[in-house]
Amino acid sequence: MELIQTKADLFTYMKSEGFGEKLIGLVPTMGALHKGHLSLIETAAGLCERVMVTIFVNPTQFNDPNDLRNYPRNLEKDLELLAAQGMTDIVFAPGEKEIYPEPDTRVFDFGQLDKVMEGAHRPGHFNGVAQVVSRLFDITRPNMAFFGQKDFQQLAVIRELVRKMKYPIEIITCPIIREDDGLAMSSRNQLLNPEERKHAAQISKTLFRARELAASMDPEKLCDWAVKELNSDPLIQVEYFQIVDSQTLLPADSWDSPCKKQACVAVKLGKIRLIDNINFD
Ligand code: AMP
Repeated sequence: MELIQTKADLFTYMKSEGFGEKLIGLVPTMGALHKGHLSLIETAAGLCERVMVTIFVNPTQFNDPNDLRNYPRNLEKDLELLAAQGMTDIVFAPGEKEIYPEPDTRVFDFGQLDKVMEGAHRPGHFNGVAQVVSRLFDITRPNMAFFGQKDFQQLAVIRELVRKMKYPIEIITCPIIREDDGLAMSSRNQLLNPEERKHAAQISKTLFRARELAASMDPEKLCDWAVKELNSDPLIQVEYFQIVDSQTLLPADSWDSPCKKQACVAVKLGKIRLIDNINFD
């Protein structure tokens, strides 16, 4: 496994190792790696000849400077985890100037995909995601790129980015990896104190219970129920709970419509913001 921190070194290494002729899989991350990230890498290793993991905490996707400041960073531990798994060929961990030699002023238009849910609560977030992902695609030129269903809306935005920019890259969706109590794994979970961590299981419990209750309530009532249920926990404050068409991300108003439906939730648990989602089909 090779740790590379500059574009120049990356290009030299890829050329010397004949990456141009290999099937390359890219797994973009912001580090503070956990089993969710490792599952993406495992899938990539199963489908590609070479796996490249990027570790870069992208400042342009943070709308809250405190969130950016407090985001967990531990490159040494990340490298240990990746080495122990033994499936990564290159770890590309660039500094900010490598990715943004000048400020990125591009503004992307993803229609409603980046306006609802996360887009509504984190203005500019998906524009920053599109900026960094397109730069990483341009630098690493993978054949496939692997993303987690955990960031459901991000996947929709990235698929649209690939379509619009005509990237010859196959986007592979990987399922959500959860802790034993159901909490979706996330780098931010390590910011929770022990008491908050106990309460965090309520998020996925409510999603799973909502799916069971779907037969007895229309989507709007079910969302109201879920918001009340989550807000009844003294440590949780709901930002949104929505059941949406998984393609358009617009609210589903009845179970009868033919689209696949996804329940998506964002909460604040103390100061930490967590998201999760499940498929309703
Ligand atoms: P992040 O480092 O949070 O930007 O995440 C990097 C990639 O890992 C994204 O594609 C995420 O969707 C994915 N990911 C994060 N958490 C999980 C999880 N619990 N299960 C599966 N994929 C995940």
